[in-house]
Amino acid sequence: MLINKETFKQDFRKKLINMYAEDIEESSNSHKYFALASLIRDYASENWLKTNKKYTNNKEKQIYYFSMEFLIGRLLHSNLLNLGIMDICNEALTELNIDLDEIEEVENDAGLGNGGLGRLAACFLDSMASLGIAGHGNGIRYTYGLFEQQIIDGYQVEVSDNWLKKGNMWEVRKENKAVQIHFGGNVTTTMENGRLKFLEHDCETILAVPYDTPIIGYDNSTVNTLRLWSAEPLNKDFDFASFSRGEYSKATEYKALIESISQVLYPDDSRQEGKILRLKQQYFFVSAGLQSILRRYKKLKEPINNFHKYIAIHINDTHPSLAVAELMRLLIDEENLTWEDAWYITTNTIAYTNHTIMSEALEKWPIDMFKRLLPRIYMIVEEINRRLVNEVREKFKDENKVTAMSIIGNGQIRMAHLAIVGSHSVNGVAKLHTELLKYQELKNFNDFYPNKFNNKTNGITHRRWLLQANPKLSNLITESIGDHWIKEPDKLIELKPFSLDTSFREKFDKIKLENKIAFSNYAKATYGMDIDPNSIFDVQVKRLHAYKRQLLNLFNIMDLYRRLKENPNLDIIPRTFFFGAKAAPSYYLAKKNIKLINTVAYKINNDPQINGKIKVFFLPNYSVSLAEKIIPCAQVSEQISTATKEASGTGNMKLMMNGALTLATLDGANIEIRDAVGDGNIVIFGITKEQVLDYTKNHSYNSYEYYNNDFRIKLILDSLLNSSLGVSPNEFSDIHNSLLKNNDEYFVLRDFASYVEAQNKIDSLYRNRDNWSKSCIINVANSGIFSSDNTIKQYYEEIWK
Ligand SMILES: *Cc1c(COP(=O)(O)O)cnc(C)c1O
Repeated sequence: MLINKETFKQDFRKKLINMYAEDIEESSNSHKYFALASLIRDYASENWLKTNKKYTNNKEKQIYYFSMEFLIGRLLHSNLLNLGIMDICNEALTELNIDLDEIEEVENDAGLGNGGLGRLAACFLDSMASLGIAGHGNGIRYTYGLFEQQIIDGYQVEVSDNWLKKGNMWEVRKENKAVQIHFGGNVTTTMENGRLKFLEHDCETILAVPYDTPIIGYDNSTVNTLRLWSAEPLNKDFDFASFSRGEYSKATEYKALIESISQVLYPDDSRQEGKILRLKQQYFFVSAGLQSILRRYKKLKEPINNFHKYIAIHINDTHPSLAVAELMRLLIDEENLTWEDAWYITTNTIAYTNHTIMSEALEKWPIDMFKRLLPRIYMIVEEINRRLVNEVREKFKDENKVTAMSIIGNGQIRMAHLAIVGSHSVNGVAKLHTELLKYQELKNFNDFYPNKFNNKTNGITHRRWLLQANPKLSNLITESIGDHWIKEPDKLIELKPFSLDTSFREKFDKIKLENKIAFSNYAKATYGMDIDPNSIFDVQVKRLHAYKRQLLNLFNIMDLYRRLKENPNLDIIPRTFFFGAKAAPSYYLAKKNIKLINTVAYKINNDPQINGKIKVFFLPNYSVSLAEKIIPCAQVSEQISTATKEASGTGNMKLMMNGALTLATLDGANIEIRDAVGDGNIVIFGITKEQVLDYTKNHSYNSYEYYNNDFRIKLILDSLLNSSLGVSPNEFSDIHNSLLKNNDEYFVLRDFASYVEAQNKIDSLYRNRDNWSKSCIINVANSGIFSSDNTIKQYYEEIWK
């Protein structure tokens, strides 16, 4: 964008006056933020309109990314960067005595997601716009985002996230584009011109109102759209009739009931949340999205049979998989297509990404509930299933397979099966994950549809996670290899020779230290934490889940603490262990883990004998904004999930991109990181996929063996039950049980020895600082392949185009 500093200053002044009738001098940071955000939206608006017109005029194929979650974070900084006016804005504001960093802190995170899955959707939006691809988001405008986590007495306490309270400058309400959504009621069948017609009646009808947010591409003129839907009553005017009859509360209750559909994001991650309200949410945004896509399509004046040539719909996990049945409904009931034509269009339009093979996360809905809420959709699912079952029976002649592959079974509707059958592409999110899908979990489907399954390894936008989050490192990279890496992240590989350059390494190390100092100051001011910036920053930030094994990390810390107590002169490099993790509010064991981390942290941090050699900090409220702060100063990246359990991971990519060394199991994209950087630049430990599958198949794991044969494990587990941690002996008995009585589902004890060894290796590697820095630089150099630009190019070439 072309604008100069003086114009910018003038525009900003004018904005403040227009919005608040205030001078710069008297305005608060909050007003300055809103004025700046509004100004930036103005700047983007013309290209937003132009982009839309171009798409329509050229009849460009439109891609819609349907996702229940978009974990976007803040937009001010990334919008300034992508518009190419960061420097001008910074200079102008500095001259006006305004600190941009302070202004940025005013913005609330758009925390409309739980973790990796929602953040992936946000990275994809950035990459699609930056590559000039006509790709848009479709989701829910939750009034409340993911809860804010507070830590009180070591426990997680959830506080609602009222992110819209101060207003949201980025979104535009499009009331004229609202659509109606029907729930419940009955379906009657009639004959009309020799064909069956299905009529829904006695439904509850509500309104879906879209709010559009511009998604600004980097240094191009593309501005795509994230459309988020809000649920409202059909008749918004206050029902005075009820009011005068004294039924005020009835009227407001009704309004609240409808608005509850887009009220709050389910805070569950990697576990199924089976509630009727969640099913409502899913149908709500799927139906609204499809209706608005269809309406736009009709303006092209193309025959409906060409729909799939102009539209691609991608469903992020199974949450939007009702799209299969809803698109069928719209094509058959509203557009009067035959089943066969509608099915051809639907399956050629929709593609599906699978994010997990863990059975507890696979979505299934009870038939009764589903049928009552979505009677017509249920009929369509039944018919899809009837045809599937016939075909499977015909091809495999095996009733076991028919039962296993059926969409409907055991009184439930299996959403993953619906998504697979209704899509032309099913992809996993890392090589290992896709292999597990094809040859284990979904083998029957892969045999049945030999060309449907494919891999698209996840990625992250290097613009947010490097250019924006780590400006010092970005500048050093640009000084060294030029700035073409910003548009072509693979060019980061040109940094590789610099790993041998002493003066580059010094600058690289200095930046890491400066980032660590900056974070230490922030943590001191914000949480009162005393952090030694010269210690190794060891970071595990991600959702709290048993399979991610924060416990394994903690058990090594407990063992290290014991060794230090036994030998205060133990020669170790000082280390600071950081944890950041939200637990689903209903996930009892995960919350106990948080309490345990904080209990151990308290004990170690307050033990004068340890003399600060190790410290442990739990950073509250892990979110995109916190990630942007901690990742640039991380030196050890903890990616220690049980092999086969983490589909891909993306935190692993962000951390390597910022020059942390990965300490990892052979799981998810860790394997691809290892392949990229080489065995010498990553530390691998733990049992492999084959070993995990063997244990599972033969039921041959017995965690007691490890408890009985490794005195370190015995001491740690015993300490959970005695008073040595200074809490009631019952506090951690359930963690203890999960590891022994319940046989340690995620092989924490099995991998303990291997992990401790790996951690000791980290310590010894760090002693050779030249080699350490070299490895870190090689990690950054190889991180370009994990840019979501690459991922999106593959989706575009191999699925959407
Ligand atoms: C990247 C990211 C995640 C995903 O982290 P994993 O380590 O891949 O699980 C979760 N939450 C936030 C806020 C993130 O930025």
